[in-house]
Amino acid sequence: MEIKEEKETKLASAKLGYGFYNIIGGQRLAAVRKLSVINPATGKELATVPDIDRDGLERAISAAREAFPTWGSTPYRARKTVLIEMVHVIEQHMEELSALLTSEHGHPAASAKWEIEWLTKLYGPALHQMDLPDEKSEMGQVGHVVKRYLPLGVVCAISPWNLPVLLSFVKVLPALLTGNTVVLKPSPFTPLTVLRIADYVNKLLPPGVLNVVTGGDDLGQWMTSHPAFDKISFTGSTRIGKEILKSAAATLKHVTLELGGNDAGIVLPDAQPEKIAEALFWSMYLLNGQACVGLKRLYVHEDLYADLAGTLIAYARQIKTGDGFESESALGPIQNRAQYDRLRSTLAEIEKSGTGILYRGEIPQGTNGFFFPVILLDNPPDDAPFVREEAFGPIRSLLKYKDVDEAIDRANNSSYGLGASVWGQDAEKADAVARRLQAGTVWINQHANLHPNLPFNGFKDSGLGVEFGREGLEAFCKIQIVARK
Ligand code: NAD
Repeated sequence: MEIKEEKETKLASAKLGYGFYNIIGGQRLAAVRKLSVINPATGKELATVPDIDRDGLERAISAAREAFPTWGSTPYRARKTVLIEMVHVIEQHMEELSALLTSEHGHPAASAKWEIEWLTKLYGPALHQMDLPDEKSEMGQVGHVVKRYLPLGVVCAISPWNLPVLLSFVKVLPALLTGNTVVLKPSPFTPLTVLRIADYVNKLLPPGVLNVVTGGDDLGQWMTSHPAFDKISFTGSTRIGKEILKSAAATLKHVTLELGGNDAGIVLPDAQPEKIAEALFWSMYLLNGQACVGLKRLYVHEDLYADLAGTLIAYARQIKTGDGFESESALGPIQNRAQYDRLRSTLAEIEKSGTGILYRGEIPQGTNGFFFPVILLDNPPDDAPFVREEAFGPIRSLLKYKDVDEAIDRANNSSYGLGASVWGQDAEKADAVARRLQAGTVWINQHANLHPNLPFNGFKDSGLGVEFGREGLEAFCKIQIVARK
């Protein structure tokens, strides 16, 4: 066993003045092996976190299993009270947590705050409406029927680096609310804010109810193939999602997969470029293009193309990319070096292809940060790899179309189906286009605006199952029918 307990509150991680621990069975645990977490704005190490081994994982799973019978039978209302308190505790530490998130993720300060406030200001209040009461009915010859939603057991939650806090806790909160216990693994690129929150809320929960472990991708693999988990809730890439589904088959686990996206938007001929340019820009470049539901392919009617391109570029010129702690920075760095290198080779491929670049933003010079310019492509071919594949960074395509049917076909010609959007003044016409788009969520005159009470799911290779809304809660439950004569 390479794990040791930590009794002191302030240790290690000199730059931040405190250490980062795994939370297992209610205790803070450190490991001999460490993972280095890099500040993407400087390229320098920010802190280290435990890189736990299989014994550490076994300990976390046992703690979650032991905690399950009591937590699972705790009244729903009592569990909800604890979770609301958890959200309050996060809120109380907002300033510190959002600064930590900027340091590890690169998010500019306002954007990091938005991510955490999505939990405290949207998810917290929405928790009040999240109920799954027993449903009673009379069913003819079957008699008096009660339908109950029972917890599944122990949930394995795995999250990515692009919205590390939000995407971790939108798994943890509904899983715990419905009576499950959890072992959460955040991305090795962005574990710090999640570990800090876990440390703060640990005292509110019985030991073992929420365990947070850190390690590399191999830890994720050990988790998803482990027979003791009852459910895997995964957000990440389509490639890894497919691997997870395979490894979960052996033990027939429940699985929810929120995967990649290559969202299309269609600007209808009646749209007014100057009215939508700002919203379009942020739909395309939010999180510096590192969003699963970012608008990645924008189909624009040929009559509006030049006007819209000009308006978008004029807006883009005002947007500064830089260190998230500098107040003028509206976009930060790319979150990690691997993603940065991928984007650089995509850009080299674009330049080699001869595709026109409508706009190339500026980035800070002379730093070791992973800064990448905002890029807007001029009508590249739909089948170019950099249009077909999800561009997880600030490279976006403006694509010209002649008629709306053609735009719909081209938008749907993708292996992904996470989100889509329609932009136009006539609500009925926009809705008629929306219903023909193959995506789990279609927005009109907006994009990527999610709500905890609205089910969110991906069509095609973008996922399996549902998060958020009543359906998202049900996904953490098994149904039991009791029929009495
Ligand atoms: P990723 O798939 O590389 O990693 C996600 C998580 O899985 C990380 O915690 C990683 O350590 C873990 N992991 C890696 N290999 C594993 C394995 N074999 N078994 C189990 N776990 C493993 O994704 P990423 O690069 O962190 O995130 C970017 C991707 O996530 C993009 O494709 C993006 O579209 C997608 N994403 C989807 C949504 C959504 O809601 N649909 C939201 C955000 C991000």
